Amino acid sequence: MNRADLHTHTTASDGLHKPADNVRMAAEAGLAAIGITDHDTVAGLDEARVAGRAYGIEIVPGVEISTAMDGQDIHILGYYANDRDPVFLARLASQRRVRDSRNELIVARLNELGVPLTWEDVLDAAGRDRGPDETVGRPHIAEALLRMGTVGTLQEAFDRYLAEGKPAYVLPPRIVPAEAIAWIHEAGGAAVVAHPGLYGADAAVEALLAAGGADGVEVYHSDHSAEDERRYAAMAERHGVLATGGSDFHGARKGRIYHGPIGWRTADAAVVAALRKRTSDRRTGADRKALDE
Ligand code: AMP
Ligand code: ZN
Ligand code: FE
Ligand code: FE
Repeated sequence: MNRADLHTHTTASDGLHKPADNVRMAAEAGLAAIGITDHDTVAGLDEARVAGRAYGIEIVPGVEISTAMDGQDIHILGYYANDRDPVFLARLASQRRVRDSRNELIVARLNELGVPLTWEDVLDAAGRDRGPDETVGRPHIAEALLRMGTVGTLQEAFDRYLAEGKPAYVLPPRIVPAEAIAWIHEAGGAAVVAHPGLYGADAAVEALLAAGGADGVEVYHSDHSAEDERRYAAMAERHGVLATGGSDFHGARKGRIYHGPIGWRTADAAVVAALRKRTSDRRTGADRKALDE
């Protein structure tokens, strides 16, 4: 098998498993490569690289950047961006500050709705040993609501409070997708529009690809139907961009929002090579050497 799962989350954001555990599971699943794509952080990459050497599996360093276009959340995956680049790191740090204040607004909104959740409860749910570069997300807030007994499942937390259009939903000031794509390119990486099937906004996705910045679109995703896959494969073809894929694994736990297990959706290893090629073409000198390490 020569497959790559190019979309997984770890404890560096809202995944349940340590980066090394994702890498071990990917090796056990017989994958050739695994992407680590935490929300707005690259804090899990070093641990993943060490584990990749131990388990003999290729690590595709990644990130999933939160953006919005016309009020619609759009996630942009970045692969092989230089995660030592101080400008790139500062940009991700600014994303995390926006995320932190958004999270506080969500807690305030819940309080207004009569749910006595505190920020401390959210931190308990997210794990107290969280590093400064690791991100807290809505799934952690959902977990805190579950622990309080306000909801019976994590999905109920989204359906009643946290999902788009629900009373505790907060859309913070977000960068537009083109800006995230530029950040990734400036750090030498390749940019991919994540899970277009989750937006219900195909025209916007099409316009984004037509604008010419993105290197790829995530055709294969755990929440995509076979019909979605066909539609987005055709879209990738029309715009001459790569068709990538991944599970969006967040970990397994009873009642947990989950997307899919590692390896549930994949891309061919040739897609990894193509992403790498695009990024090495974009890099020069010492920066290119860093990619090869
Ligand atoms: P955040 O980046 O903090 O806004 O959290 C986004 C994450 O929340 C996504 O990666 C999903 O795992 C989860 N999520 C978002 N919307 C929903 C929903 N409607 N139902 C279940 N999970 C959701
Ligand atoms: Zn997530
Ligand atoms: Fe996403
Ligand atoms: Fe994701």
